[in-house]
Amino acid sequence: MDPNFLGRIADGMEQGVLVWDHDGLCTMYTDRVLDVLELRPTDIWVGISRTDFLSGAIIRGELDQAAVDKTQERFARKTPFQFDRHLRSGRIVSTAARPMGDGGYVVTFTDVTQQRRESADLDEAKRASELAQAQVLETLENEKARQQEASMLAELGEWLQTCKSLDELYVVLKEFMQQLMPDSCGELYIYSNSRDVLDGAVYWGTAEIHDHIKADACWALRRGRNYSLSQDKISFECPHVQEQNAPSSGDYICVPIIAHGDTVGLLHIQFQVTQTDKLGVRNPHKFAAQCGELISLAIANVKLRDELHHQSTRDPLTGLFNRRHFLESMRNELKLQERRGGSFGVISFDADKFKSFNDNHGHDAGDMILRAISEAMNTLFSADEVLCRYGGEEFTVLLPAATRKDTIRAAEALRAKVQEISIAYAGRTLPTVTISCGVASFPQDGTQIQDILKSADDALYLAKHEGRNRVVDSSKLQAGQIKVV
Ligand code: GH3
Ligand code: MG
Ligand code: MG
Repeated sequence: MDPNFLGRIADGMEQGVLVWDHDGLCTMYTDRVLDVLELRPTDIWVGISRTDFLSGAIIRGELDQAAVDKTQERFARKTPFQFDRHLRSGRIVSTAARPMGDGGYVVTFTDVTQQRRESADLDEAKRASELAQAQVLETLENEKARQQEASMLAELGEWLQTCKSLDELYVVLKEFMQQLMPDSCGELYIYSNSRDVLDGAVYWGTAEIHDHIKADACWALRRGRNYSLSQDKISFECPHVQEQNAPSSGDYICVPIIAHGDTVGLLHIQFQVTQTDKLGVRNPHKFAAQCGELISLAIANVKLRDELHHQSTRDPLTGLFNRRHFLESMRNELKLQERRGGSFGVISFDADKFKSFNDNHGHDAGDMILRAISEAMNTLFSADEVLCRYGGEEFTVLLPAATRKDTIRAAEALRAKVQEISIAYAGRTLPTVTISCGVASFPQDGTQIQDILKSADDALYLAKHEGRNRVVDSSKLQAGQIKVV
């Protein structure tokens, strides 16, 4: 075989080939070594030591001292090894060394720039696709959370809108807020009628509610808009929160509750420190503010309903119930006492000689008397008793579950109280106005409300007939002693 045959094969190879003898001196190298490593002919020669050759690589900036030391160590171990060197031109050369039987090494230098770039491109593409996938997942998660929040808010809104009274609204609110924001605690305060303080109406979570807070103890009420306290911005705790003695307050939001343009209350929601991300909603402050808006709407709704109900059941001059409401209450009471086998009483009364009072003192003075009579009724009777201005200067009272005796006693007390009314008008005291009362009761006066009212009216007529300023009960009629015409 041609002795240069192997040499010619080596020269024809894509890789550069270099052989180190067991002393670390170069015994041969192919011309490809110069091309692949971008060397000048003066950089390598047969007989160059490996140490000098590697020092050249440091000077050319392909390897640093640490890499050279590591390479020398690997040569000393007499095992195959491989590493990449980065040429200054940007090309990458894979250097693979294999030990030979005589203690020397054969080293091949392969230009792997293309492969390494492709692999880097592949890694980059993989990373980009993973990132895109993560972004899609995040968007989906966000959208899912948004939809979930929207449906929770819609459900809360729907429930709140069906509440007929503030008490019902408080129950719904407590239940919902515990579920919607389980790691929060909060309170709803409503302005008292005097409007100098807000009364604690409902609370959830662990916070203790104040019985009252002053309006100027809250930044939101003072500034007339939502107030968020969060750890990541400069903010000051509201005085009502400082007073609360909570362990460590942390983030919170105060939302003024506004109904028909009036501030009617305050929603305060406290987020547990470090748990904001566990609240199950993306932005707890925003979510809480949205809850506040729903509560405002619902309270406005309840107030409007209350107002309409008030208007439809009350007499505007005295604030007492009107005839329609009285008859309805009487119908309900009759059904109830029929079922229970119980009783109830009715007082029907009328101002005495009121026409001449009006004629002498004027209609306005008459109105003042009617209002004073209604005030006397309010002080005398309890909230269960239905007080009504039946029409003109005629009034009725329904006494649920009362006996005839109870009713007569109440009518007598009322008659005496009206007689005591003293009113100053136009610089002088108006003369005393008296009332005449007729008393009827269930079941003695019948099982229809018309029968019972008729008995009360007949008794009232009798009271007038007998001289006014007195109480007559219907048993007097039933005894057949007197016939009312
Ligand atoms: P009697 O003792 O028999 O009841 O005599 P009276 O004058 O009170 O009886 P009558 O029913 O004849 O007159 C009722 C008067 O009540 C007529 C009216 O001037 C007056 N009145 C009715 N409604 C009002 C009201 O809203 N305001 C005022 N000021 N007066 C009223
Ligand atoms: Mg009358
Ligand atoms: Mg009268």
